[in-house]
Amino acid sequence: MNGHFSSVGDAPAKAHYEHGIQVIDEDKEFNGNINLYLQATEVADAGFNYHLISVFGSQSTGKSTLLNYLFGTHFNVMSETERRQTTKGIWMSKNKRGSMADNILVMDVEGTDGRERGEDQDFERKSALFALATSEVLIVNIWEHQVGLYQGANMGLLKTVFEVNLQLFLKDKQSTPRSLLFFVIRDHIGQTPLANLRNTLIQDLTKIWSSISKPPGLEKSRIEDYFDFAFAALPHKVLQPDKFEIGVKNLGARFVAGHRNAKLQLEHGEQELEGGVFLPEYHRRIPADGFSHYAEGIWDQIVNNKDLDLPTQQELLAQFRCDEISREVLVTFDSAISPLEEQQAESTRSGKPIVLPDLGNTGRTTREKCVKSFEIQASRYHKKVYSLKRTDLEGKIDQRLKTLYQGQLTAAHKTGVAKFSEAVSTAVKQGQRSGGAYEFAEIVDKEKTETLEFFETEAKSLAIPGVAWSNFKSQYILFEKDLDEVSARLRKDEMRRLATRVERWVKSRLGDSVGLEFNKLGSGRGGSGAPETGEKPPTEKDLWDRIWNVFISIVKEAESRFTERAKSFEASEGEVEVGLWRLRRKSWVALREKIEEEVMEGNILLKLRENFEDKFRYDEAGVPRIWRPADDIEGIYTRARESTLTLIPILSKFKLSSTSAPPGLPGFIGSQPAGVEAEDEEDLTPIGGVDEEEGKSLEEEMTVLSETKRQDLVVRFKKTADGVYVEAKRSAIGGITQ
Ligand code: GDP
Ligand code: MG
Repeated sequence: MNGHFSSVGDAPAKAHYEHGIQVIDEDKEFNGNINLYLQATEVADAGFNYHLISVFGSQSTGKSTLLNYLFGTHFNVMSETERRQTTKGIWMSKNKRGSMADNILVMDVEGTDGRERGEDQDFERKSALFALATSEVLIVNIWEHQVGLYQGANMGLLKTVFEVNLQLFLKDKQSTPRSLLFFVIRDHIGQTPLANLRNTLIQDLTKIWSSISKPPGLEKSRIEDYFDFAFAALPHKVLQPDKFEIGVKNLGARFVAGHRNAKLQLEHGEQELEGGVFLPEYHRRIPADGFSHYAEGIWDQIVNNKDLDLPTQQELLAQFRCDEISREVLVTFDSAISPLEEQQAESTRSGKPIVLPDLGNTGRTTREKCVKSFEIQASRYHKKVYSLKRTDLEGKIDQRLKTLYQGQLTAAHKTGVAKFSEAVSTAVKQGQRSGGAYEFAEIVDKEKTETLEFFETEAKSLAIPGVAWSNFKSQYILFEKDLDEVSARLRKDEMRRLATRVERWVKSRLGDSVGLEFNKLGSGRGGSGAPETGEKPPTEKDLWDRIWNVFISIVKEAESRFTERAKSFEASEGEVEVGLWRLRRKSWVALREKIEEEVMEGNILLKLRENFEDKFRYDEAGVPRIWRPADDIEGIYTRARESTLTLIPILSKFKLSSTSAPPGLPGFIGSQPAGVEAEDEEDLTPIGGVDEEEGKSLEEEMTVLSETKRQDLVVRFKKTADGVYVEAKRSAIGGITQ
């Protein structure tokens, strides 16, 4: 602000403040570095525990001298020899004497001689207003011989003070802080007792008060509504130096905390103050760390001749300081939280979610520390502004924490889901390795409980008492839902594994049973040992009936195995239904494959040959024939061959002898259940007559040998049979020749 302050440096060493600090210079500029002074003198952190005193009085009435004696300050004093006015402006210095109230700041107003007129009166008025707006105690310095001189310069100044005061507090009716006017009468000779001087002064003050023009609404106000009065007299400094010093010492003893004694209240607002002069009600309630900014705002208003509006100034100050404190607090918050935010961002970028350890605790304590720190410093300011700014700060902190916490829960969510499916898979694999004796549902239950606990612990650790957003119930519910989805997927996998096992079982059973039925074809007399059992011997005609029945019973057994197992791991009815449907289809396909294998050229030709040979080379009693030339070899051959040939059409079509129609495959497989998903259909082979859209009929599905294959088989079989016949013929002849 002003370049020639010797006291203002980059490093505020105490030595620079020997004379205190110039608050306002002769050009009416405010010094922007007051706070540095308050910091250097350790007042800045005192909160409300400080006091402000200003002094008024005509030029050269020994004001600075008095302050220096009283408070040990070093305000400039007019030199005895030069007698010229010292620098104008307002200076401030901290009290250096002990045994007084803490942190007394004294302002020395380097006034002008009131007898002079003009521009200087403006400064006088402005500095009076400034002093009034900030100070608790206003010392009015006056020579004894001036007392009663109503027209005297001091009284003019007082008139100004009163008028200014009324203006000032017109705006601030609610708080109306009082001030103490402390009259110090100098060069008191002692002839007139202090009590008399006091009465005279009070009469004068009352006169002045009645003479000032009062703003509307305050016409009836009394001087004692705004001011308390105190009086002291000091002996002549030069003539009675010892007594002067004793007087100053006694006076100094009064600058301690005091309280009002109502019983002793005297007329005209004069207070008998018990203890000291500093009553709490005089305090302007500006926290020390905000004083500089507040004073600057006040001075700015005064200099620009604006109406002083203290409540507004206090609000502005509160906004300014609360913002400042908030910023400081956020720096602390930042240093604790930023590294965590970065860690989280990094883990998100790399796709490896990290659950930050102890985050809830760190977040909560950091938040607490920051809000508390803000509260301690900022709560001294305007209450409404403070609470708004506190809400702001909490909002900012919470926004950051909220994002961080949500990231944390997302990480916990991902980690949890991965851990869960990993754990279930591992347990299942272990179960499979140790012989398949594991309960899938139990594994899922156990792992789910553990994973939910993990998530819940994390979510609860993030909770901040009394803060609604830190309740993560909905995230927990979402997590549980996801786990259930994962469970469903894992169960589906498990179903698949089960299905594969059961299908394998079906295949192996079909292999045995169907193989057996085809083997029976090898016996031309329709099955082995049947006559002994007394049952109706199986005929070649009901081959397919037997295969169908065997198939049905194997599939039924497989179905019940599947159902039982699937139920054990809590598969839904729909899922079981789909599984069974798939099982029936796959079983049918397996049967088809088995049949395919059986009717493969070499295989079936061999069976037909066996069938034929059985009929041809054995008699009705099952005894091998020894061919003799007289035997009707040709007749037997033809019958046997024809008999075996009848098998080919039978073999060609899967047809039941009971109905001469294909079995009810579509009815057996059943229609497609509602719950079938795309992936359920992926590995399914289309079945004619069942999957109509495939364009293959049931008739085609049931065709075992195509027309070409059939004819081919007939030709080949005949050739084989011919071979056998020729051999028989030869052996018959050979038997004779032998
Ligand atoms: P200020 O202009 O009111 O601050 O007055 P100063 O403190 O600069 O003092 C002005 C002159 O008055 C100086 O020469 C002082 O020596 C003198 N002085 C200071 N105190 C007293 C006092 O108690 N009695 C008398 N008669 N002179 C004093
Ligand atoms: Mg002075």
